[in-house]
Amino acid sequence: MNTIWWVRRDMRLHDNAALHAASRAGALVPVFVLDEQVLRSRYHRNATRRIEFMTDGLGALDAELRALGSRLIIREGRADDVLSAVAAEVQAVEVFAAGDVTPFGRLQEARVRRRVALSLVTGIGIRPSGVVSKPDGSGYSVFGAFRRAWLSTPLPDPIAPPTQLPAVPDGILGIDVVAAPVRGFPAGETEALRRLDEFTIERIDGYPKERDRPDLDSTAALSPYLKFGMLSSRLAAKRAVERGSEDERGGASRWLDELLWREFYMDVVYRRPEVLREEFNPRLRRIHWVNATDDIEAWKAGRTGFPFVDAGMRQLLHTGWMHNRARMVTASFLVKNLLCDWRIGEQWFMDQLLDGDPPSNNGGWQWVAGTGTDAAPYFRVFNPVLQGRRFDPTGEYVRRWVPELAAISGRDIHEPWKLSAESRAGYPPPIVDIAESRRRMMAAYAEARSRNAAMQLASAP
Ligand SMILES: Cc1cc2nc3c(=O)[nH]c(=O)nc-3n(C[C@H](O)[C@H](O)[C@H](O)COP(=O)(O)OP(=O)(O)OC[C@H]3O[C@@H](n4cnc5c(N)ncnc54)[C@H](O)[C@@H]3O)c2cc1C
Repeated sequence: MNTIWWVRRDMRLHDNAALHAASRAGALVPVFVLDEQVLRSRYHRNATRRIEFMTDGLGALDAELRALGSRLIIREGRADDVLSAVAAEVQAVEVFAAGDVTPFGRLQEARVRRRVALSLVTGIGIRPSGVVSKPDGSGYSVFGAFRRAWLSTPLPDPIAPPTQLPAVPDGILGIDVVAAPVRGFPAGETEALRRLDEFTIERIDGYPKERDRPDLDSTAALSPYLKFGMLSSRLAAKRAVERGSEDERGGASRWLDELLWREFYMDVVYRRPEVLREEFNPRLRRIHWVNATDDIEAWKAGRTGFPFVDAGMRQLLHTGWMHNRARMVTASFLVKNLLCDWRIGEQWFMDQLLDGDPPSNNGGWQWVAGTGTDAAPYFRVFNPVLQGRRFDPTGEYVRRWVPELAAISGRDIHEPWKLSAESRAGYPPPIVDIAESRRRMMAAYAEARSRNAAMQLASAP
């Protein structure tokens, strides 16, 4: 009896529940669908580098499958069309796949289910979304409470990788894909597992102290691998638990929390998909944004005149990845200081990030904008100069990404406008006054709050 493993964002052999279930049920055929609708959607159409990373990862997966006697069939088309065609060709009785949380991923599943038997298992997150609930069955909107409930159930053990797989029947054709490897991020599970080992053995203990320092190599840089499932998030969590996460202040525990933020945001999108379009907090909808084109372009190019912001934006442009602290500060600058709609930044990050993932990206943007879960106070604005001085104390991060300022030593680099024009070497002056822009933001948010409150009153029965 034949089965299909519909490869989605679980591009790995280790700890793979869909692969495991498909091979227990029959002789599996691995199929990946390049779905035009996905590739042309607003999330992915400009994300050339992320698609290269994914394509590179498909090549790596195919090589791993071939080493075990199988191969990957890649086809273009709609997932339901492709999977029902392959199912007919190989006479497969069932398709196994990792369940997704995004609205489009779930629509794909519903369409596939109308054409072939589909079994969904957990594989993108650590646990399925929508199961960690309050006693009344609803979801958590505060991370701390979600985390406590999540941790109250023991982690399941990861599944061992297969040692051999059945050959895919001759004559089952797919397309060849060729990708240019993305600099700094070789795709595939071998690299992902190497990074996991290196981080959890050598660097995890220093994580609580150093994780906010973008000038140091202080975090795991695993997010692109988790995004495409080249690394199992369950294996990553298990590794953290084994490294001693019972010590609440230890590195492993702190790192496990970050993996749980990913779980939390997936749960939010699964239960409340509308957050991908509008503010989680209804009191902060329809803010009167300024959205000045010149400001947005300067922000995207890393030419705002604020070195810490520009370093982050240029790291993103050059590598497709940005340190979390820099993500928070650059996002806050766009939303709070330039008063631009957070959706503009969310889209730009989706265009640029190798790890661009709607739940985590949306969660991060709404958290910074103060419109999301966790009631982050909206009046908290990251001051880009103070943040730079604190988290890039020697200016090393700025010097790495903003070469115009490379000759400036020490933390003076965070206020170049106070230095001579020669030492700034063509670096732009600040595009906004920090104190003034903060006042403007406070007024715009306050106005939206009172307008929304009045509308709510007016519509009350
Ligand atoms: C505005 C904004 C946008 C973001 N967009 C994304 C995105 O599109 N995709 C994405 O994976 N992360 C996003 N993040 C979260 C975070 O910045 C990255 O996950 C992290 O920087 C990845 O680096 P790392 O692998 O070294 O993380 P580590 O610090 O080593 O953490 C380990 C893993 O935990 C997860 N994680 C860590 N922090 C968060 C977080 N705040 N929210 C959700 N998951 C987290 C990631 O999967 C990460 O790989 C965003 C954060 C902000 C503030």
